[in-house]
Amino acid sequence: MSGSADGAPVKPPRPCPICKKTSVAAFYPFCSKRCADIDLSRWFGGVYAVPAKESEEDASSPPADDGDE
Ligand SMILES: [Zn+2]
Repeated sequence: MSGSADGAPVKPPRPCPICKKTSVAAFYPFCSKRCADIDLSRWFGGVYAVPAKESEEDASSPPADDGDE
């Protein structure tokens, strides 16, 4: 093989997926801890905050207020 390793794959700095700012190494691929937390909360929100009510498709209407006077 002719060693011509002149094409070193240089990774361009990715923008923060949250606010599209320039990411920093400390919080890669985010730009700050704030955005990292936002992304993290999204994940946790999707995992833990899932209302297990897929079987109740009949609940098309909101629970009517029983005006029991
Ligand atoms: Zn950001």
